[in-house]
Amino acid sequence: MTPHVEPDPQAGAAVKAADRAHVFHSWSAQGLIDPLAVAGAEGSYFWDYDGNHYLDFTSGLVYTNIGYQHPKVVAAIQEQAGKLATFAPAFAIDVRSEAARLIAERTPGDLDKIFFTNGGAEAVENAVRMARLHTGRPKVLSAYRSYHGATSTAINLTGDPRRWPSDTAAAGVVHFWAPYLYRSAFYATTEAEETERALAHLESTIAFEGPQTIAAIILETVPGTAGIMTPPPGYLTGVRELCDKYGIVFILDEVMAGFGRTGKWFAAEHFDVVPDLMTFAKGVNSGYVPLGGVAISEKIAATFDTRPYPGGLTYSGHPLACAAAVATIHVMEDEKVVEHAAHLGEHVLGPGLRDLAERHPSVGEVRGMGAFWALDLVKNKETREPLVPYNAAGEANAPMAAFGAAAKKNGLWPFINMNRTHAVPACNISEAEAKEGLAALDAALSVADEHT
Ligand code: PMP
Repeated sequence: MTPHVEPDPQAGAAVKAADRAHVFHSWSAQGLIDPLAVAGAEGSYFWDYDGNHYLDFTSGLVYTNIGYQHPKVVAAIQEQAGKLATFAPAFAIDVRSEAARLIAERTPGDLDKIFFTNGGAEAVENAVRMARLHTGRPKVLSAYRSYHGATSTAINLTGDPRRWPSDTAAAGVVHFWAPYLYRSAFYATTEAEETERALAHLESTIAFEGPQTIAAIILETVPGTAGIMTPPPGYLTGVRELCDKYGIVFILDEVMAGFGRTGKWFAAEHFDVVPDLMTFAKGVNSGYVPLGGVAISEKIAATFDTRPYPGGLTYSGHPLACAAAVATIHVMEDEKVVEHAAHLGEHVLGPGLRDLAERHPSVGEVRGMGAFWALDLVKNKETREPLVPYNAAGEANAPMAAFGAAAKKNGLWPFINMNRTHAVPACNISEAEAKEGLAALDAALSVADEHT
C-alpha cells in the first residue's frame, strides 16, 4: 500500500528550515543532524515531501502497534475532544475508568489497579517510588543491557551508554548482568547454563548489596532497545523466586514489549511470571496521544489504602489519551492484532529473518518473537565480533550507516542501534508488507556483508 500524494519539495524545505531554527532534538548533536521532513503516514508507511515512501520497520519508536492513522482511533480522539477534552486526574470520569478497566482485565495476575502517566519513563519513576515506599528500602537492581527511560531515576536504571552523561551515584541503583547467551557474561554455552549462572550471579549481587537494602529488581520482560534478548526458560520465574525469598518487589517493564508486540497482550505471559508492578506505555494506544502507566498488584496497592501515595501528574489519565487507549484495545480485539503478531513471528518474520541469517555472512544471530525481532550483525560469524564496536560513533559506525542508507534506498525505514537492526513493524502489518520489508532488508544486508 503506497498512498498517492503529490510531492511538494518547497513545503518540505520550509518545514526543515523551521525545524532547524527552533526544534531541539532528543539524543542529538543539534548541528550534525538532518531530520527527514515527513509529510504524512498511513498504516505501515510514511512519506516525505519529495515523493519518497518508506515502509516503517520501526513502528515510530516501537509504539505504533496498530500502524498510523487508524480511522477508529482517530475518530475516538475526535469524539472525546468534542465531549470532554480534558479533566483533572482527581475526578472519576467515564473514559479514564473504562481505559483502566480494559487494561487491568488484560494484565496478568492481580495487577488490577492502574496509575496513569504520560509515558514510559514516568511509569518507571512511579513504579520505583511505590516499591521504595512499600518496602522502606532504598536500592533498585537493574540490568546492564536495558533501557528504562530518560528521566532521572529511569536513566540511572538504564544500562546502555546513554546513561553515562546523566549518571549520578546517589540514585541507589545497582546494575547486574542479565542473560544474553549469544554473548554470555557467564561463559555459558547452553540456555540452561545461562539461566543457572545468571540467577546465581543475581543472588550473590543481592547478598553482597544486602537484601534488607533492596526495594526492587526491575527488568524488561524481553529487553528491547538493548537487543531483544528473549530470556532463557526459567530465568524470570527464578527472579520471581529470589524476589519472594528476600522480600524484594519485582517490577517488569513492558513499555516496549507490552500490548501485543510479542504476540501476547503482555510478554510476561510467555514466561508464566507475574510481577508486583508492571510498567506500560507505547502500544497501549499506539502512541496517538501520550499515555503510560503502572499496573499495581493488590499487595502494593494496599500499602496506599490509608496512607496517601505521594506522587501525581497534571495530565495523569488524560481523557484524549484514554479515549485512544479504549479505541486501540477494541481495534486490537476486533482485528485480532495480538494473534496476528504471533502469526507473523511464527510464519513470516521468524522464518524470513532466519533465512536472511543463513544467506548473509553479516548476520550473527536472529532473536525475537511476534513483531519484535533483532538481527545481531557481526564481522565474523565464528568469533561473533560485532560489525561495529560497542557504542560506535563517526567513522567507526560506517558499516551500520551504509546498511541504513541501503535500506532507505530500498524503501525501508530501519531501526538501527549499535551493531543491530531490529525488525519491529506495526503488529498489524500485512504479510505482503512484511515480506516487502524482508526483501529490502535482504538487499541492505548485502551492503553490510561487504564489511565482514
Ligand atoms: N522502558 C522501556 C522498556 C522502553 O523501551 C522505553 C522507551 N523506549 C521507556 C521505558 C521510556 O519510555 P518513554 O520514552 O515513553 O519515557
